[in-house]
Amino acid sequence: MRTSQFFFTTLKEAPADAEVVSQKMMLRAGYIKRAAAGIYTWMPLGLRVLRKVENIVREEMNNAGALELLMPAVQPAELWQESGRWEQYGPELLRFKDRHQREFVIGPTHEEVITDAVRRDVKSYRQLPIHLYQIQTKFRDEIRPRFGVMRGREFLMKDGYSFHTSFEDLKREYGNMYATYSRIFSRLGLRFRAVAADTGSIGGTGSHEFHVLADSGEDDIAFCPASDYAANVELAEALAPANPRAAATNTMKKIATPGKMACSDVAEFLNVSLENIVKAIAVVGEPDDGNKTFALLLLRGDHELNEIKASKIAGLTNLRLALESEVEEYLACKPGYIGPVAVDGKKVAIFADRTVAAMSDFVCGANEAGFHLSGVNFGRDLPEPEVFDLRNVVAGDPSPDGKGKLEICRGIEVGHIFQLRQKYAAALNCAYLDENGKSQIMEMGCYGIGVSRIVGSAIEQGNDERGIVLPTAIAPFEVCIVPMGYHKSEAVKTAADELYAQLKTAGIDVVLDDRNERPGVMFADMELIGIPHRVVIGERGLKEGQLEYKGRQEAEATMISQADILTTLK
Ligand code: ATP
Ligand code: MG
Ligand code: MG
Ligand code: MG
Repeated sequence: MRTSQFFFTTLKEAPADAEVVSQKMMLRAGYIKRAAAGIYTWMPLGLRVLRKVENIVREEMNNAGALELLMPAVQPAELWQESGRWEQYGPELLRFKDRHQREFVIGPTHEEVITDAVRRDVKSYRQLPIHLYQIQTKFRDEIRPRFGVMRGREFLMKDGYSFHTSFEDLKREYGNMYATYSRIFSRLGLRFRAVAADTGSIGGTGSHEFHVLADSGEDDIAFCPASDYAANVELAEALAPANPRAAATNTMKKIATPGKMACSDVAEFLNVSLENIVKAIAVVGEPDDGNKTFALLLLRGDHELNEIKASKIAGLTNLRLALESEVEEYLACKPGYIGPVAVDGKKVAIFADRTVAAMSDFVCGANEAGFHLSGVNFGRDLPEPEVFDLRNVVAGDPSPDGKGKLEICRGIEVGHIFQLRQKYAAALNCAYLDENGKSQIMEMGCYGIGVSRIVGSAIEQGNDERGIVLPTAIAPFEVCIVPMGYHKSEAVKTAADELYAQLKTAGIDVVLDDRNERPGVMFADMELIGIPHRVVIGERGLKEGQLEYKGRQEAEATMISQADILTTLK
């Protein structure tokens, strides 16, 4: 590209209402123009960056086995009514009517549309798993759009949705996406951290966010340098209820069919010693067959008894055995989160200390009379649940995993992955026929990346007093050629044109600043807009076959021979 044929305008000063550095720089560099609150035009220069980010995301998603499609921005209200979110979503959902008074929304996310598409086309287990994604414009009527493209109302998101025949397979894909996201953010040259996260209004079980580390971030992240523990502090607001006892009691009320059996009988039936029944757990959920279920009995980690057909156990239907690690995974909680546990052969009870509400699923007790799934009295039968409340956490507090001390930093949420399980598939009856010709509800995951937010986040991490500093992978151009006297010196013009052609042929994304501007103006512009490599061509150097090279963040330029410039830049 030649600047004379490009269109960009730079500003000396950022608009007074710009709050954070990336927003100021993007406006000054002419990446974006504000159209309305939280709504921006991506100018050609900014669009180059956006597209580079988008393409890295697309490439990695394709490599990971996901398939791209494109869904509409406008979605019919009926689908949102079917999922229940028409009522639940609130004012962030932009609703409108067409000329026939039919109701629509502008999509803030696409679970409903994709689930509708999949339920119509996928009939058999043979067609699963499938992962479909898009890179598409979303609209959320944010109460406080700010920080430029970082909290826009209209923004670009990569959203992927996967469908499976089993929770096992969903977890496999979730792991695949966790790894893919880590690769994407590494390729983008970002300093980031994956953290355990709240499931928010999208709902479901099991979720991680990916945060770009920056002081301007809106989220607090608690992490333990001694272990891999990291959580969004917001998580605690959702998972530590004000009254854990009430949450647990409500849960117990929801459990419909209490079952009874003496602990010793259970042990005998399973052919394990009583000590091996370390924990008992009841999980109410919608398993493969769509019925409410209880998963009960947590066995010591090395036991492989989860295959046993436990339905024989008196009075309990759909009883399943689970290993501790499996339950932890199901609850998306870290090892050690399930507790406290009381086992003395007479009483067995557990609860996840700080995840009571998230599971809201869960409580199980046993006494002399046997196992039962109701009637635990906290304080009398069991200790009060301890709630680890991250909301009040300060640096230096012990990490919930007990492995060290917590540190706190700020993060910008750029990615979010969820195990939705059957939340949407059940509501929209997204079913397939299994090997036995039986209809089953699909398991589902969803995976979002804030493509446009990434551009702002990258600039939050990469800037200096002269402007934007971007990694080569996403800079608007990789190299700029700045000729000293392009319009005055034939030698300079020839050398600049030749180098420009040579770099283009080599596949380098190069811009030649052939404007008739003073050198100072050209240097300042190229630095402001974030070009990582600069080559200056001047008459004096050319006489000795030399060009001047400078990296965006280097203090001094170096002279390089014309013959070596290509290898330097590659
Ligand atoms: P936030 O907590 O910042 O409001 P979210 O949790 O509501 O984000 P998700 O529903 O998880 O967002 O959407 C997936 C991704 O889309 C987010 O991780 C984020 O990167 C991006 N995103 C969400 N809202 C916005 C927005 N208003 N502007 C730009 N990007 C956004
Ligand atoms: Mg939000
Ligand atoms: Mg969030
Ligand atoms: Mg989120």
